[in-house]
Amino acid sequence: MKPATYFLETFGCQMNVLDSQLVAARLREMGLRRVDSPREADVVLFNTCSVRQHAEDKVLSRLGGLRALKRRRPETIIGVIGCMAERVRHELFAQVPHLDLLCGPGELHHLEALLVEVSERHEQLAALASSQSRRTTAAERGQADDPLEVLDSSRHAVPGESVLQSYVRVQRGCDKFCTYCVVPFVRGPERSRPPANIVAEVRSLVAQGCREITLLGQTVNSYVYQDGERTVRFAELLEQVHAIDGLDRIRFVTSFPADWDDSIFRVLRDCPRVCPYLHLPAQSGSDRVLKAMKRGYTVAEYLRIVDTARRYVPDIALAGDFIVGFPGETEEDFQATVELVRRIEYKSIFVFKYSPRPGTSAERAREDDVPAETKSRRNNELLAVQSVISLRQKRALIGRTVEVLVEGYSKAARRLQDSDADTGVDAGDGLPDGCAHDRAASGITASPRQLAGRTPHDSIAVFDGEPAHIGAIVNVRIESVSPLTLFGRIEGVRSPARVSIR
Ligand code: SF4
Repeated sequence: MKPATYFLETFGCQMNVLDSQLVAARLREMGLRRVDSPREADVVLFNTCSVRQHAEDKVLSRLGGLRALKRRRPETIIGVIGCMAERVRHELFAQVPHLDLLCGPGELHHLEALLVEVSERHEQLAALASSQSRRTTAAERGQADDPLEVLDSSRHAVPGESVLQSYVRVQRGCDKFCTYCVVPFVRGPERSRPPANIVAEVRSLVAQGCREITLLGQTVNSYVYQDGERTVRFAELLEQVHAIDGLDRIRFVTSFPADWDDSIFRVLRDCPRVCPYLHLPAQSGSDRVLKAMKRGYTVAEYLRIVDTARRYVPDIALAGDFIVGFPGETEEDFQATVELVRRIEYKSIFVFKYSPRPGTSAERAREDDVPAETKSRRNNELLAVQSVISLRQKRALIGRTVEVLVEGYSKAARRLQDSDADTGVDAGDGLPDGCAHDRAASGITASPRQLAGRTPHDSIAVFDGEPAHIGAIVNVRIESVSPLTLFGRIEGVRSPARVSIR
């Protein structure tokens, strides 16, 4: 039977979100309709993440929950795509006998053919990377014909799906081999996409109504493409994207400190549509730990980049990633991280408890010797330090007017609309998981008219508005704050919505 419907659930980073959008577009072209539950689907796909064990466990549990469904409807195709498919490979078939298909992140251009084959042959089939050569330089590799380019370049408008804010990949893979990280093993070597293809993709998205682009790369600032005689680096790529008419905002993630090039700051200063926001993972404030992680920079070098950033763009918002409980991390090492967070005064940080990943050199060579409770305590302590900083920064905005790109109704407003309730609930929105306490802490209630959006500095703002504001850039006067959210009221429209977004 030819499949007619699909269910697709995404785990992990923005790269996976983008891969899922591209896969969804291909499935639609195959004539499949998206459904909201595996029960209604002929094809069930999980786009997976291997960065932490917890993410893989979640997928295994989802797969386990489909055993009965597969018994009832054996023609349902169940597939794992993305990093976990590549990391665990054929073992996953043994672990999950009702699984039909595996497709690694570097093989997604084969997914269509794989689905057809599985539905015809009723066998477990896989498309996984063979060897992706690392013997060439990143610039040379960018020149090679990359079959995945077809996937990115064939992006089409999807009826009913907003492109207001879109991701565009500039680079695939990673060559850094930080000792804790599985990405270079599952996503292959670093390859940069041709600038002309990136610019064409952004132009096409803008023509469909996109106002904000986020350029994605595992180490986005390491972008390098050999264009004939010319070497195009990330600063020049940013300028090329900035020159596209009709685009309002450009962001880029994630930057890698060891490859930093100060000419990117010149672009941040001189190109007004490049948002004053830099996500620059530090991972630790201890040189000893940074060396064990093989990050390739010292705390002093990291601080130099931050100080230079603030010289060029004084109000730049900084975001950082940290790993707590890396093998051998002492209390002194951790306090050095706390000190770094205090010194930098980030806008926000993401903290991860170290989780040994099979195959990485940290997992092979180092004992996971920091107890789980110590990791949790350090995680909470670091977040508490940042929360005080975030609140202080946000309080400084009370009474000021900020520019917000309106993304849609807040989650709280949508809940109210869904339940048709007439009493308010705690406000707040677009917040990452686990931030419910932020909404509660604000003490502010939402209305069904509450909208949410982001400032150029990547702060979330919520305020009451009209449907016509969705997709517009508005001025919002800030009246109150919580560590993660700005609350205010619309003062005026800077630039109306260009397409109607529901
Ligand atoms: S730079 Fe390091 S942490 Fe980032 S993806 Fe590459 S190996 Fe992983």
